[in-house]
Amino acid sequence: MNSVLRVFSYLRRYPGLAAAQFFCATLMAVSVIFFPSVVRFVLNDILPNPARHAELTAWVLIGLASFFLKDGLNCARIFVNNHFEQNVIFDIRSDLYRKIQRLPLNWFDSRRTGDIMTRVVEDVTSMERVLIDGIELGLVALIQLLAVGIVMYVTDWEVSLWATLPIPILLAGAWIYSKDARHRHKEERNATSALNSLLHDNIAGIRQIKSYSAESEEHANFNRLSAKVRTATLYLMKWWAIYNPSMSFASMLGYVLVLGLGGSAVIEGRMEIGDLVFFFLLLNLFYEPVSKLRQLNQMIYSSRAAGDRVFEILDSDDEPNAADGDKLPAEIRAHVRFENVSFSYGGQPTLHEVHLDAPPGKTIALVGSTGAGKSTVLSLLNRFYEADSGRITIDGTDISTLAKTSLREKLGYVTQEPFLFNGTVRENLALARRNATDSDMWQALDAAHAAGFVRGLPQQLDTNVGERGVKLSGGEKQRLSIARALLKNAPILLLDEATASVDSETERQIQDALDRLMENRTAFVIAHRLSTIRNASKIYVLEKGRVIEEGTHEELFARDGKYADLCRKSFLNQEVTA
Ligand code: ADP
Repeated sequence: MNSVLRVFSYLRRYPGLAAAQFFCATLMAVSVIFFPSVVRFVLNDILPNPARHAELTAWVLIGLASFFLKDGLNCARIFVNNHFEQNVIFDIRSDLYRKIQRLPLNWFDSRRTGDIMTRVVEDVTSMERVLIDGIELGLVALIQLLAVGIVMYVTDWEVSLWATLPIPILLAGAWIYSKDARHRHKEERNATSALNSLLHDNIAGIRQIKSYSAESEEHANFNRLSAKVRTATLYLMKWWAIYNPSMSFASMLGYVLVLGLGGSAVIEGRMEIGDLVFFFLLLNLFYEPVSKLRQLNQMIYSSRAAGDRVFEILDSDDEPNAADGDKLPAEIRAHVRFENVSFSYGGQPTLHEVHLDAPPGKTIALVGSTGAGKSTVLSLLNRFYEADSGRITIDGTDISTLAKTSLREKLGYVTQEPFLFNGTVRENLALARRNATDSDMWQALDAAHAAGFVRGLPQQLDTNVGERGVKLSGGEKQRLSIARALLKNAPILLLDEATASVDSETERQIQDALDRLMENRTAFVIAHRLSTIRNASKIYVLEKGRVIEEGTHEELFARDGKYADLCRKSFLNQEVTA
């Protein structure tokens, strides 16, 4: 459906505000005719008649009252309109945010954060302008145009015909202008969005830019995209610069014709001077909304381009079972199996017939070179992506039949790069359990060896950790994210062990915290430390998306295959040879 019409469908939620707006707009548009009528009456009937001169003051006051009425109604209309507009913007943004949370991860993989932000923040406002201005300019203008037009034709149809002669020229101009307007505005929106995306990326990566001294290159990149916005905007404005004045000129032809024809009618005594002045005032009121409609025409196209970008998000498919699906029982044994699971990222085969078995309460370790598919295994268990074939089961239930919320409340996921939100320690922990008390939090922090440093923070639990947790060290962030997983107390744990090196004391504390986290839980660990691997009941070695070896550390090491090779080459070397 046309984006503009879809925006208007949001209006239906507020029939009271819509009716009030319509009421004020109509009365206001009609009230503009009062003053010219008063002027005509004064010129034709009061001024030439000395006996009625005393009435002048009364008529001036009536004229004043007519403006007071018009602007009072306008004030009420703007109030109503503001509420109307802000309610609709709120609704569209809220729908958009709900939708974004339900979109599958592969949707995000192919999009830039800055672009999504531009759509939610700027495009919603911009598409919504068609509502404010559409109503303010469109509705008021149309009603006024109609009301004034009727009065003009009733007064003198012949002069009116000349006065409205430029209308076909204006319509043709609007048609020519509109033909390609959507495209021009889309270019401008896309260019702005690309600029926002780059800015977002560069601010997030400001440390890398500084450390690689890439400021001038990035500045050049920024200027390149900024220049595209300039070009696209100038192109837009060029059209407007030609269209608006030429249409204004065409409307003025109406005035000139009325001056000529009306003037000669007065000379020939066919028209009174008051009627001519009345006509001029009406003409002004007639062409004023025409010029507003012209602006509206431009606005509709800009809104439409923005609306297309917003509705593209709203029309994307939700991830499957985002809100519905079966539920797991409150208590589960947590036996997780991958049976013949294959998966590809948008056509790029990544996992091939993977079999994994994690018995209740046991830890299985996934090892392999980077790019082997280890993180993908955890993503599939989280159902960030859906397997192409095969089954993943928990206690025999295929997870693809489960509601995502039910599945994910059983999973504790500790990522390699711990992600903390820009908020307090408390807010970051509460993400795992909304109703956690302070003592629950301290208990989890204690177990994660994080209580010590949190006590040392200026406001303890209420200390802000900065964007992505920048105010904390790597080891501190890891321990906080382990505390968060402990607080969640999920029966299945997915752990992407950090490779970043920390000092040996921190390392020992993190290891201890992880051991506690894994106690009595079914755990999938992407392992980089020998100690974790030794604790695992089974190790799966992945290579190019296939499980090529499985067994305990001793079995695999004795086999002298890929695992032994990995051990010798990388993470385990000193410990293995020891
Ligand atoms: P590992 O965790 O073993 O290092 P991954 O599971 O992260 O490996 O990646 C497996 C393969 O899938 C790699 O070739 C990687 O490039 C690719 N891949 C990972 N994530 C995505 C993604 N979101 N989109 C497309 N390809 C991806």
